[in-house]
Amino acid sequence: MSADTHLPKDAARSAGGTELIRFDRVTKRFGSHTVLDALDFTVSAGKHVTLIGPSGSGKTTILRLLMTLLTPDEGTIKVGDAYLTHEEKGGRLIPAGEKHIREVRKNIGMVFQQFNLFPNMKVLRNITEAPVHVLGLGKDEAEERARGLLDLVGLTAHLDKYPTQLSGGQQQRVAIARALAMRPQVLLLDEVTSALDPELVAGVLDVLRDIARTTDITMLCVTHEMSFARDISDDVLMFDAGRVIESGPPEKIFTDPEHARTREFLGAVL
Ligand code: ADP
Repeated sequence: MSADTHLPKDAARSAGGTELIRFDRVTKRFGSHTVLDALDFTVSAGKHVTLIGPSGSGKTTILRLLMTLLTPDEGTIKVGDAYLTHEEKGGRLIPAGEKHIREVRKNIGMVFQQFNLFPNMKVLRNITEAPVHVLGLGKDEAEERARGLLDLVGLTAHLDKYPTQLSGGQQQRVAIARALAMRPQVLLLDEVTSALDPELVAGVLDVLRDIARTTDITMLCVTHEMSFARDISDDVLMFDAGRVIESGPPEKIFTDPEHARTREFLGAVL
């Protein structure tokens, strides 16, 4: 990573992994369907965690809860010192204030399956828009940051194009740069290669491998790309029916899973 991207440095890891994300008995229902069922898990700062499991097991719901696109029915979610659902005041939990939610939104970047770039803005402006309007960065500083990130994702030559002039893989790399431009503590990746033609997948995964290797950004990743998951993950969480049924380092989960459901799932996707 070049110094001018200013992504978080090694502090978290060398501090021995401070807890950054906590789900405490989080339940999420859609109508009568319980998607997450009293879910507990934590992620330490700087770690790369991959969520795997069958379709419909609640993985994307977790990312959407963290992005505050959804709210849980029960339980608490904490990111750093901010309670996403409730905050502690005088020893009691009260609903989280806008301030907490804004703080969390600023600290979390998300990349979606569909790239969701602003179609009417050129690549550079797609990346500078939020830093200028949300963080209040000056235009020059935002552009310098954007150029550093475009270099990181290998798209310097395309900064003056509109999204439709780029391939899906290039658009997704712009979306990654756009998320990083806010310098989030956490990067959420929701099946970011699922909508891509097969020949474009490797380029996007290579960029993410680079980010995982050279920065200390915390990554929470939903993917069907198991070899990528194996490469980047510190921990893999296997979901089934809204619960973590097994978790551990990728060497363990992918080669010697404990749970029959994990074996069955991996047998189908590997
Ligand atoms: P995964 O990412 O593991 O495939 P999701 O978190 O996307 O699973 O979805 C879990 C379940 O919740 C699915 O059955 C899905 O249909 C349901 N679901 C997700 N979002 C909504 C919604 N907004 N309204 C109703 N049901 C939903």
